[in-house]
Amino acid sequence: MLSKRQFLQAAGLTVANQLGAIAAQPSDAKRKVIIVTFGGGVRYAETFSKDGLRNIPRLAELQPAGHFFRDCRNLGVLSHFNSTASILTGQWQRVDDFGFQPPASPTIFESFRSQRRVSPAETWAICTNKSFASIAPNTNVVLPKQLLLEAVKDVVSKGGELGVADRSNVQRRLETILQEGCEGVGWTIFKGGRQLDKKVRDTLTHALVEYIHGPEAPTSGDELTFFITREVMREFAPQLILVNFWDMDVAHWGSYSLYLQAVTRTDRLVGMLWDEVRENSAYKDKTTVLVLPELGRDGDINAANGFLNHRSGDASCRNMWMLALGAGVDKGETEGPIAHVDIAATAAKLLGVKFDAAGKPIPEIV
Ligand SMILES: [Zn+2]
Repeated sequence: MLSKRQFLQAAGLTVANQLGAIAAQPSDAKRKVIIVTFGGGVRYAETFSKDGLRNIPRLAELQPAGHFFRDCRNLGVLSHFNSTASILTGQWQRVDDFGFQPPASPTIFESFRSQRRVSPAETWAICTNKSFASIAPNTNVVLPKQLLLEAVKDVVSKGGELGVADRSNVQRRLETILQEGCEGVGWTIFKGGRQLDKKVRDTLTHALVEYIHGPEAPTSGDELTFFITREVMREFAPQLILVNFWDMDVAHWGSYSLYLQAVTRTDRLVGMLWDEVRENSAYKDKTTVLVLPELGRDGDINAANGFLNHRSGDASCRNMWMLALGAGVDKGETEGPIAHVDIAATAAKLLGVKFDAAGKPIPEIV
């Protein structure tokens, strides 16, 4: 039993701790940020143009509830890795295009973790693009296709134990997923996919095995990315997440209809991600979601084969849009230009992190 003096000390200490904690934390200490690359390369023509809106019904519906930036520019190298790295570092990146090198300057993930001393579970990058293993050093980078591969291997080798009835079905599904959106080179196992904390990987692998046999079986890499993102949000509730979608890069294969299907699928998945933000108590009312394509695609069919690639450097490749949703976002629309290097600067301000960026925080969001 406590003496009166001990009791008062304990009570006083408790009050002091509470006051200290409040004083030490900025008002947005619990702010969460989710950066979504509406990715793989998509043009204005198939998204927020008059004729494109039919391909993105969910984003079109969400636009009035957020802040729409009509002119969001990628002025850097028009490759997937460098474009996304520029978004995460706030500096225009020019590193090896296949993800063999990390970005040349710190990402917002690294600065957030080191300055705020948060646990590794607070920062995640979930990427469909197979070469993104090194996109964010010292962050949980998950390549769900890679995870699925490991999960399926597990299913196939231990099928009996896990109660899997139809192994060939799992393999067929795996093949379908791995064949999509890979720029014609198939898939590769990257070291980064193996560096995930074992406990985390076991959790996700287990979830995947369940998922493959559940009613929501994935039919594309991006659906898998969404599913893993939602699992991570529910299991670990991280403060900072990159969701990298990539299916629409199937356009390199030359099928306009597959490209459009991927655009509409990504729209649906972003809508579902937003639904999760609104329904998950760890995210509701405290999360800022920034949705933007990391790059466009060629505009002129005569000069550069139109939608197939993203190498001409014309306006159709560079002049994109961004939709900001959620906490702290003023509803409305901005005509004037912002740039991809502004995104990390904006995220840094929202998270209370000092950050050296070529861009500036966007006033309509911070
Ligand atoms: Zn591409």
